[in-house]
Formats: sequence, structure tokens, C-alpha cells
Amino acid sequence: MNKAVAAFIIFLCSSIVQAAPFRIALFAENDAESVALAWKFANTIRQAEPFSRMGNQLEIKVYPDQANSLKCVAGAMGIPHLLSCNTAHMNQTKAQLKANRIIAVTARLKGAAGGSSTVLGNDLRPGTPVHELFHTFGMGDEYDYPSRQHYLAYCNPPRFYPNVIPLLPSRSYVSDAEARTRHKKDIPWFSEIKPATLITTGTQLGTTGGLYPKEDAAFYRGGECSKWIPTWKPYYLETVMVRTEQVNVMPLHSKIAIRVMEAEMGRKIQLLNATTSSSGDRRVSENFLRRIFKAVSGATLDGQGKKSGKAK
Ligand SMILES: [Zn+2]
Repeated sequence: MNKAVAAFIIFLCSSIVQAAPFRIALFAENDAESVALAWKFANTIRQAEPFSRMGNQLEIKVYPDQANSLKCVAGAMGIPHLLSCNTAHMNQTKAQLKANRIIAVTARLKGAAGGSSTVLGNDLRPGTPVHELFHTFGMGDEYDYPSRQHYLAYCNPPRFYPNVIPLLPSRSYVSDAEARTRHKKDIPWFSEIKPATLITTGTQLGTTGGLYPKEDAAFYRGGECSKWIPTWKPYYLETVMVRTEQVNVMPLHSKIAIRVMEAEMGRKIQLLNATTSSSGDRRVSENFLRRIFKAVSGATLDGQGKKSGKAK
């Protein structure tokens, strides 16, 4: 093959591959247990929707804190299992690594924390890494907070999330259509609710529990500050934002995560289809190369032999 042609093809390939992935850094306290725990969390996240379908558009790596400055502690804001670590050190490391997210990991403490400074401790349920990561994409808790500490920390004033909102309903509604008209602008996930799914039960606001398929978004009472303020969530069953015994990611959660990642990356994410094998993707890129070969040299991959066809 002509050297210039080869260089051109390498250039094309590298410019396709080199678009930066969405980077998640798991920043572990500098001991073997914490590092091992971080790798375990990395695998859990990799296997969950939508991350499992991002291929090389997602990078999850573990970094031990060689400066020993994370210094995580439990009991933040008076909540026993709420962990916090050296936020300034986390942010500095995040910038150095050019990471989109940084999550501190400590095997010394039990508990976790979400939001702007995410921490994962020991003794966690399988869904917790994804749950806390989803908080960093702006999602709220779909379980009802149990304590006054939670109320003081999160409910005054109540917050709005793409998957949980406070909303004071009217005393009664004439019809479901009326409720939809009145509240469609209030409900961030309104476009996800199928036309046949009622958001009222009789004259009252709120979908009847258990009536629709579990993946269908609707409008249920519950989540966050629901014990104190009328609060609403999209799913009746227990999603990963309710319980973390399972990694139960719902379509809305995937969509929100993708939307946020795309905004940060400044480009579309091409999800690998679960039903398409990776050979499908390889075929696309081989077809692409075939066209390039034809365009530049008049040769075809087959004409060059299989060896050059498989070259990266
Ligand atoms: Zn949470």
C-alpha cells in the first residue's frame, strides 16, 4: 500500500476513535480494600443501563489517592450513614484527570453520599453505586425520607428533579384530561406518560398503583419529602432510585442520564443496541473503510487481502 494512503487512513481512524469518552473516576482511599471495592463498583456501573451500551464512549477507571488526603468521615448533616470526604481534593483530582465525575470510595466506613460530592462506602447494596451516580445526573430519591434530619436537609424548601417533584393537587378534577391539561407543564416526565395511562384515580390526582406495566411512566404519589409535602414520582414499583437491592434502572432514568452526558460531551451518544451483536458495529466500520479505500486508491479491502482489512 502507498504510504500516503496508509497515513490518511490511520488519520481517519484515529480522528473517529479519539473523541473523548465520558469519564467516571473512582477515587479510592489508598488501601487495598478500598481499591478492590472501587473496582467492584466500576463493574457494577459498567453492567447497568445505559452505561452497558456505551462501549468506548464511557471510561470508568479506579485511581488510588496517593496523597492520602481524602479523609472520609461518616455522619454528615447529622445523618449516620451519610459520608463526606475532602471535597477540594476531589475537585482538584477531577480536574487533573479531566473526569466528568469523580466518586470517592472508602472501605473503612459504612454508608454513601450523592450529589455534588459523591462517596461510596463499605457494606453497600448492589444498586447503590448507580443510585448515587444518578444523583450526580440530577435525579432525586423516589423513596420517602424517613427522618426530621432529612426534612431539615432536603425538604425546606422542597426541590424539583427530573424524576421527582413537589406539587399541590387541586381538591378534585373533573376528568383525567383536565388534570393533564392543568399539570403537563409541571411534570418533567409528562412526555413519557402514554396517552392511555391515567394520572388520576377518580377525581383525585395520582395514577392507580399496579394498573400499568412496570416500565411505563405515570404519576404516583411518593418520593423525597412526601411525608411532609405532596411529592410525585414516575414509577410505582421500586426503581434503583427507591431501593438498591437490585439495579433496577427504568427507561426515564436512562434517558435523563444520556441527556446529561450528551450535554457535557457536546455530542450524541451512540447506544449499542442490546439486540445487535458487536459484529454489526464492526461491519459498519469495515464498510466505511471499504469506501475510503475505493475513494483513495481504487483498491478494495478484499483486493488487499484479509490481513489489511482487519488492521486497526
Ligand atoms: Zn439517594
